[in-house]
Order: sequence, then C-alpha cells, then structure tokens
Amino acid sequence: MIISTKPDKNYRRLVLVVDDEEVNRQMLGMILSEQYDVIYASNGREALKQVGLHKEMLSLILLDLLMPEMDGTEVLQTLHEDQDLKKIPIIILTSEKSAEIQSLQMGAADFLSKPYDMPEVILARVWHSIKMFEDANIIQATENDALTGLYTREFFFEYAHQYDQRHPELAMDAIVMNFNRFHLVNELYGRSFGDRVLSIIADGIRKVIGEIGSGIASRYDADTFFVYVAHRSNYGKFLDTVLEQLSKVMKAPAVRLRMGVYHDIYRSVSLLERFGRAQQACNSLRNQIGTGFAVYDMEMHEREVYSARLLEDFDTALAQKQFKVLYQPKYNIKGDSPRLCSAEALISWQHPEFGRVRPDAFIPLFEDNGLIQRLDRYVWKEAAEQIRVWKSVYGVTLPISVNVSRVDVYDPDITEFLVELVKENGIDPNDYLLEITESAYTDNSRQIVDVVKKLRSAGFKVEMDDFGSGYSSLNMLTALPIDALKLDMAFIRNISIDSRDLKMVELVLEIADFLGVPAIAEGVETEEQYELLKKAGCDVIQGYYFSRPITREEFGKLILKAKEDAHGMMRDAVEGKRMKR
Ligand code: C2E
Ligand code: CA
Ligand code: CA
Repeated sequence: MIISTKPDKNYRRLVLVVDDEEVNRQMLGMILSEQYDVIYASNGREALKQVGLHKEMLSLILLDLLMPEMDGTEVLQTLHEDQDLKKIPIIILTSEKSAEIQSLQMGAADFLSKPYDMPEVILARVWHSIKMFEDANIIQATENDALTGLYTREFFFEYAHQYDQRHPELAMDAIVMNFNRFHLVNELYGRSFGDRVLSIIADGIRKVIGEIGSGIASRYDADTFFVYVAHRSNYGKFLDTVLEQLSKVMKAPAVRLRMGVYHDIYRSVSLLERFGRAQQACNSLRNQIGTGFAVYDMEMHEREVYSARLLEDFDTALAQKQFKVLYQPKYNIKGDSPRLCSAEALISWQHPEFGRVRPDAFIPLFEDNGLIQRLDRYVWKEAAEQIRVWKSVYGVTLPISVNVSRVDVYDPDITEFLVELVKENGIDPNDYLLEITESAYTDNSRQIVDVVKKLRSAGFKVEMDDFGSGYSSLNMLTALPIDALKLDMAFIRNISIDSRDLKMVELVLEIADFLGVPAIAEGVETEEQYELLKKAGCDVIQGYYFSRPITREEFGKLILKAKEDAHGMMRDAVEGKRMKR
C-alpha cells in the first residue's frame, strides 16, 4: 500500500514553487527535487498560468506572498474562488509573522518562514500538507476493508485515479484476481476458514506490491481483488508469490485462482474500462481447471467488439426471425431397432453478416446480459407449436425437449408461462421436456429444486443436461426430482479410446438405474460409440450418428419414415417374419 511517512519513490508528485527571487527558488527546488517533481513561477501571473496547465497533477503549491505583478495574496484568493483549484494545498512562504495568520485564514494549509529551516523540516511539512489534503478527498467512506486491510472499492478507484493524474507517463497494469467457486471453500471448510484464506491472499498481494515497489490493491467484492501496479511483462511470479502465501493454510492444488491482466501503455481508456477488460481476461479462464492468468489481447478485444455487435443486433434478429429452431432426433435403442422417440430443439442464428452463429457464441452472452429469457421463450413457443403442427399433419405426437437456461430458473413466471403455452397448443405437458444443465443445480440448489418441483407437478418432464460435468453429489441427486439423466458429451467422445470414460458412462448408467430414470447419451457420432452404449445399457441416443440438428421440414421426413417403419414392423410382426433393421 502506498500510505507511509514518506512519499513513495516510484510515485513522484508534482509541486509548484512560486517566488520572485531566483535564489529562493533554487534552494527550495534543490531540497524538494529529492522527492518531488518541481516546476517554478516567478510571479503571481506566471503561477496561475502554471496552475492552469498542470492543475490535474499538482499536489502542492509553495507560494511567496510578496512579489511584483501579482502578489501571493491575490493568487491565494483567485485559487480559493475556484471549486477545483481550491483543492490544491498551498504553503505560504513569508518572513512576516502577521501575514502568516492572515494566510491561514484565507485557506492556506501551512506556512514556512524565511529564513528557511533545515531541509528535513521543510520536507516533512510539505509531505504533511499533501497527505492531509489527499486524505480529506477520500475519507468519506471507510478506507480499508475490515477483513483484509486492503482498500475498499471507492477508495481504491480514487487513489488509482490520483495516481494516473500524477503519473501520466507511467505504464500501468490493471489486474483482477478471482477465486473459482470460492463458495465451495466456505461450504466445505466453514466461513471463518474462508475469511482466513481471503486475508492470506491479501497478504500475498501486499507482498508482491512490496516487491514491485509501488501499486495499490483492493478487495473489490467477496472473492475478487483489484490490483493496480506498474507494468510488467510476466505475471507468473506474481501468482507464485500469492500461491506461496496461500500454501500456508491450504494445499495449492485445491485452490483455483484466476488472474486477468490488462496492459495499458497509453491510458487510452478510462480506469473502469481497463479493469473491465482485466475482468474479461479473468473470465476467459472461467472454464479452466487449475490456477492461471490471462492477458487481455487483440483477440479478446475483437471478441468484445463482436459480442457488442451480437447484443446490439438481438432485437432486429428476433423481429426478423433470424433465429431458427433446429431439431435433433433422439432414438430409443432399447428394442431390436432404434425408434425415433423425441427431438431436442436447438437454436441457431442466421446472421445477415456473420452467417451462421453457433449458440455457444451467444447463449452465455445473452445469459449475462438479460436477453436469454426472451430468446428461450421464443424457442419454447416455436417448439410447442411444432408439436401441435406435427400432430395435425402426421397424426402422431412427437415429444420435444427445450433447453432451459440457468437464468430462466429465476423467472418467477416460468411455470405459468409454460402451462399456458402447452394449453394454447393443445398438448400434454408430459410431451414437453425441459433440459436443465447440471451446473445450474450446483449454482443454486434450493431455488432450482423448488422450481423443478413446481414444473413437474404441472406435468412437465425435466431432464438433467450435461450430467457429469458439474459437481452434483449422490446425496443431492436422490433429493432431486428429475425424469432423465443426459450424459455430458465429453464422456462419449472418448469412450472408444479411453476405457476410463467408458467406466464413467457405466457409473452414470448405474446412477440413473438407481434413480429409476432413463439415461440419454448425446454427441454419439460413430457406430462404435453406439454399440458400446447399447451394450452398457443406455436407453436413448442422440447424435450425428443418427442425424445433425435439422430444419422442421427435414425433420418431417424423419417422422414420416418412422411412421412407415412402425407400420411395416407391425405388418411384419403379424406375418411372423419380423426383420431386424
Ligand atoms: P446442449 O444442450 O448440450 O446441446 C447439444 C449440443 O451438441 C448441440 O450444440 C448439438 O448440435 C451438439 N451435438 C449434437 N450431436 C452431436 C454430435 O454427435 N457431435 C458433436 N460434436 N456435437 C453434437 P449446439 O446446437 O451448438 O448448442 C450448444 C449449446 O447451446 C447447447 O448444448 C445448449 O446448452 C445451448 N443451447 C442451444 N439452444 C438453446 C436454447 O434454445 N436455449 C438455451 N438456453 N440454450 C441453448
Ligand atoms: Ca440440451
Ligand atoms: Ca448437453
């Protein structure tokens, strides 16, 4: 931290010395330049000019009272009448006792009498005045976070801002540090241990800043730290120091610390934006397993611009029906031959400029920006209408599953909306399936259990999507009301080459069995995967092996074919020569 009894070496403040006598200017300049950058003026008029030029950066003015052209009293008055300029502390230089009292009354911070004292005394009084004024500017809120002793958010930004103004030439880095799923530390080891971990991290950050020589840090919120330091090219050591500190209370591998860095050589964007970008770099590690850091780069910048475009285009896209719902078939493989049993509705964006945009590029973005609810409701409506249309065209009801975002779970009207929707389309809620990703359950298990219960009692079937990618425990699963487990695709990908993944699949199938619900495997691409899954006892399969997500028109043909097959199968069965497919 930068609070100390002396100004920081790497943090030189700017001081203006105003005196008409050259020898006085030289002498003060010599003393002060040891710790400050010094500029000069030889009369009141020049002084005001200098103040105008450097007002953002000036930390203090040393002002002689008796000068030609415009004297010190007039300068003092002029500065005092200006809202901004009166924030710059002024020390009066004088040899007249009576003038001292008067200048203090006029708002001067202090005075130095001529002939001057020892250099140390001058430096101490100068520093004292600067500190007093700086503190007064930022004292409103509490300066320090009670737990870690680091600056609070407001104080941090105020200080960083001052730092920038005084040192526009220094290249600074904005850093955001964050724990991955810190709530788990609290849950597993208790809050007081969690507090201890946070304060140890703060110690680590302080240590790094000490080594770098200058910088400030803040606990921005619960488990997020903001650090502002002089630019460096490598952050590996920074992280190592913090982790070393942390290893005093916790095994390092158990901890997932992420750090995002934004280098700004030119200070081209505001402080807030710089930290926003550091935050983005930090977020880019969201799915990374271990500890690490990321630097905001051109690629991230381009992504940011791209994301901004997607957000901007959302309304038009929705109005112009650029969002298309595709359907991917699911097959029940329990019998002799696979039987089309339902479809998953998947969104796809046909952007007029970018072409097809994959959901992974916009779903998380829309979740973060409050748009997902509108998009999902659009998909839900399309899917419900589709069930109705196929029923009227083909005379069969094909159940469809839709994806429910983690954000939708917080929508208090979700059940009413869906109930109304199926009613409007004359479909049984039993044929309307809801896929909710496993990690939504771990994010807020209480809320989701309540919502899922409500949805199920309204007749909907709920499938847990991406099962195996999150952290659900067997305990939680048994308390959870669900109708199907959908295996995470990552397991399927490797079952053919890695028998460990096949073991995982078998385990998940056992869990499904134990819960009495069917297991669905998605992302099945090859014959080999299909055979392995069938042998392991998987119930339903979805994947390129059967079909990619396709348009409703193409899907119509699948339904027609399935109907014919079923018809054929029945006829064959009657004739006693049922064939395998
Ligand atoms: P998901 O729910 O796990 O959907 C399955 C994804 O796997 C889909 O990707 C699908 O096209 C893809 N897939 C299917 N079979 C195969 C295969 O054999 N191999 C491979 N490599 N991939 C396969 P898609 O359409 O890109 O969707 C990605 C994710 O976006 C979805 O993952 C889901 O989480 C989300 N999403 C899609 N549509 C919606 C929606 O309408 N609402 C919400 N909230 N999320 C959606
Ligand atoms: Ca899904
Ligand atoms: Ca999935």
